[in-house]
Amino acid sequence: MADPLLLTPGPVSTAPATRAAMTRDWPPWDGPFKTLTLGIGEKLLAAAGGAASEYLAVPLVGSGSYAVDAMAGTLLPRAGARLLIVCNGNYGRRLETSVRYMGRDVVTLDLPETAPADPAALAAALRADPAVTHVAVVHVETTTGLFNPVDELADVVRASGRRLWVDVVASLGILPVRMSAWNAEAVALSSNKGIEGPPGLGFVIARRAALAAARGNAHSLSLDLEHQARFFEESGGRFRYTPPTHVVAAFAAAIDAFVAEGGQPARFARYAANLSALLDGMTELGFQPVIARAVQAPVIATFHQPGDARWNFQVLYDALKRAGYLMFPGKVTQTMPTFRIGCMGQVDVADMNRVVEAAGAALREMGLSSGAP
Ligand SMILES: *Cc1c(COP(=O)(O)O)cnc(C)c1O
Repeated sequence: MADPLLLTPGPVSTAPATRAAMTRDWPPWDGPFKTLTLGIGEKLLAAAGGAASEYLAVPLVGSGSYAVDAMAGTLLPRAGARLLIVCNGNYGRRLETSVRYMGRDVVTLDLPETAPADPAALAAALRADPAVTHVAVVHVETTTGLFNPVDELADVVRASGRRLWVDVVASLGILPVRMSAWNAEAVALSSNKGIEGPPGLGFVIARRAALAAARGNAHSLSLDLEHQARFFEESGGRFRYTPPTHVVAAFAAAIDAFVAEGGQPARFARYAANLSALLDGMTELGFQPVIARAVQAPVIATFHQPGDARWNFQVLYDALKRAGYLMFPGKVTQTMPTFRIGCMGQVDVADMNRVVEAAGAALREMGLSSGAP
């Protein structure tokens, strides 16, 4: 039987050519591997809208959370700085936890999970707290799948003279990322989301000047981006410590496939078609999406769980699994029972239609005529 496809917002199902790139052992200090790593950085800069003269893509071992940790731990000064996190989901909250671990100064602007962050609310929060020096925003909150209006939020941050970081882990390659236009100091991303690589590699794209100014600031040697960036430049593309060589090679293949597919516009179109098929089919079964379609990124869809006593999430999960699809195993929203089905990675509209069919069969198995909440 074929391997199941992953309907999660990372890791995602990858292309055969990406997996095939993992069959070779690489010496990480040698020329070809360094060239591979440098090539990834160039393509990521292009995908993130950052000029190479101004920004550097710094590779890091680990998932997106490690990249976000490294961004904060390296770039937020230990004294005389305060980070404000625009928080409307789990990833904003995870960053808060991370910065508290480091013992740095952090505050949150807590907003509802089901609506895009309001730029006026951010402007008011910044006016009310002059001690804030940095602002962090999550582009696509994978908790629900909603996207935040980073263009507008970035305007507010720029007008207030603060520095901006954006978590683009779930948006890079899918939605437009414009770090120069946003005047962002840094963005964080990982290998296993919109670029469709395997998990294990993170990147922070940061202003060269900000990296240089952060020398000695990091709380952790392995997560010290400035140290890694300096070594990377001096060595012509090396990691400081052992990189996941097979993952780097596969990520290089994945980003080449991403560029060949037509980059972000093409990927957006493919995922958007997946999302439409999923939302249309699930809505027809009676399931109700948690967020409005206009603010839904084509990454993952979140639905209310039916309130009927016969509803059993496990029956849905198992039905999808029998059909060859693995969905996320539970709810992540804070205030209401929901479930999530991803629509990114190497899956297509036919897959989405089979998922809807399996969901319909699951409802019948539970004795329900509709998935209405
Ligand atoms: C996936 C994701 C991360 C990183 O999560 P990991 O579990 O470390 O992969 C960070 N931010 C967002 C918005 C994400 O979707």
